[in-house]
Amino acid sequence: MVSRVIPVDPFDLTIFGGTGDLARRKILPGLYRRFAAGQIPDGCRIVGAARSDLSQDAYRDEVSDALAEFVGKDKLSPDTLKAFLGLIRYVSIDATGDKGWSELKGHVRDDRISAFYFSVAPSLFGAIAERLHGHGIADDTTRIVVEKPFGRDLESARALNRTLAEHFDETQIYRIDHYLGKETVQNLMALRFGNVLFEPLWNSQFVDHIQITVAETVGVAGRGEYYDRSGAMRDMVQNHLMQLLCLIAMEPPSQFEPDAVRDEKLKVIRALEPVKPDEIVRGQYEGRSGGQSGAKSRVAPYHADVDDPDSRTESFIAMKVHVSNWRWAGTPFYLRTGKRLKARQSEIAVVFKDAPHSIFGAEAGRHRNILTIRLQPNEGMTLGVTIKEPGPGGMRLIDVPLDMTFADALGAENDQVTDAYERLVMDVIRGNQTLFMRGDEVEAAWAWTDPIIDGWVSADKRPYPYEPGSAGPEESQMLLHRENRRWREIRE
Ligand code: NAP
Repeated sequence: MVSRVIPVDPFDLTIFGGTGDLARRKILPGLYRRFAAGQIPDGCRIVGAARSDLSQDAYRDEVSDALAEFVGKDKLSPDTLKAFLGLIRYVSIDATGDKGWSELKGHVRDDRISAFYFSVAPSLFGAIAERLHGHGIADDTTRIVVEKPFGRDLESARALNRTLAEHFDETQIYRIDHYLGKETVQNLMALRFGNVLFEPLWNSQFVDHIQITVAETVGVAGRGEYYDRSGAMRDMVQNHLMQLLCLIAMEPPSQFEPDAVRDEKLKVIRALEPVKPDEIVRGQYEGRSGGQSGAKSRVAPYHADVDDPDSRTESFIAMKVHVSNWRWAGTPFYLRTGKRLKARQSEIAVVFKDAPHSIFGAEAGRHRNILTIRLQPNEGMTLGVTIKEPGPGGMRLIDVPLDMTFADALGAENDQVTDAYERLVMDVIRGNQTLFMRGDEVEAAWAWTDPIIDGWVSADKRPYPYEPGSAGPEESQMLLHRENRRWREIRE
């Protein structure tokens, strides 16, 4: 099955931070793929903007290198690459000074959509917003895209919202959480609201609990300074895991339309109860000496990666969260995320309750239907269904998966499993804010997060150590064991 590509209207997209890591790894490769798919019309412009002094050719060379690295040399067609590079411009600009702004104005045309991607440190957002207006480059049709982190607490998020609001209306601001751009995440909404099968069961009467896991194998080396000021709660839970929780827990919006969806998500965030200290487990990864298996498997401990032997920042967190409303009263949501875990795996598992009465007797065992929504790797969904074990051995029950791996189901040539950034940038051009966070949503998320963080800061407790390559600290297992539940395995 080949996907249908609907070209967007002509646009000029400026990437502030056009030489940075995010532009190289995600934004430019995403734009290339959309161009190669025929979605970006000729005549659009993609303008890289950063302080470095680069000629147009030097920047195009940089873009070309980034595409070779992150799209893959073998996936670049020389003709398409040449045409794509034809869209690229570069402006050497200082976000906090006067250099480059008149030149940028010359690149951004009035007769098309203009969007500005703020792929720079949030401390520069205000300066850029002000200059875009001051130089007459932005108007009330301009769109701006801002990256995470959106603040580090409620106060800073409010300040950032105020700064942006001085120059742009909320309808012009696209706050990215790339988790919302993942195919599976959108499929979650299709699954819930496009089928009659699940929604009647989607409540505390039938769902025992829900697990959301985002496990990473990488450590924080290379971004230790940023990470140590943030930790797993700020870096992952407040945004990505919270967004997943919202989509799982929210009521059906009246329409798949930006404010209808975001209103429902906001209600979920506001229904979150404060988390009790004994329902949170924070961890920090230890190191591993090379041992016999050789230098390759040596892993530096967290405190070496952040260069602070006394750091109390968590690289792992597990917590039990309650959504206090009619639908979810009594059904806990267990969230877990961490670095240097056993495998890179993100999934949501909806664990349904036992059948009300077991007609097969105790020897048939306890079986539960589990709907697993995999975000990575192998985006897809699996529904565990209980059946009779084949053979003459009596009525023994086993669980078998009804599996839908998108890449298999939709065909190998299908490009539907697009990178989240690709889709989100195209949504900006289409003017669709559904998959972007609204200012009040972000503030509500911080309002829930702040007291939790304050709690452990004032308790001054060290995170529990855990082995690299494990599923996190033992204590996180206890969080579920003591309620006769189990985390799903983090699989290699
Ligand atoms: P980065 O690699 O440090 O790049 C920063 C970019 O900003 C560079 O292009 C830099 O170029 C430019 N810049 C810095 N100061 C400037 C100024 N005064 N005027 C104009 N341009 C300036 O950072 P990044 O990793 O790409 O991250 C960019 C943003 O995305 C950050 O907010 C980050 O938190 C967020 N983010 C990044 C990732 C990721 O995977 N990298 C993921 C999620 C969110 P010059 O030095 O030449 O000016």
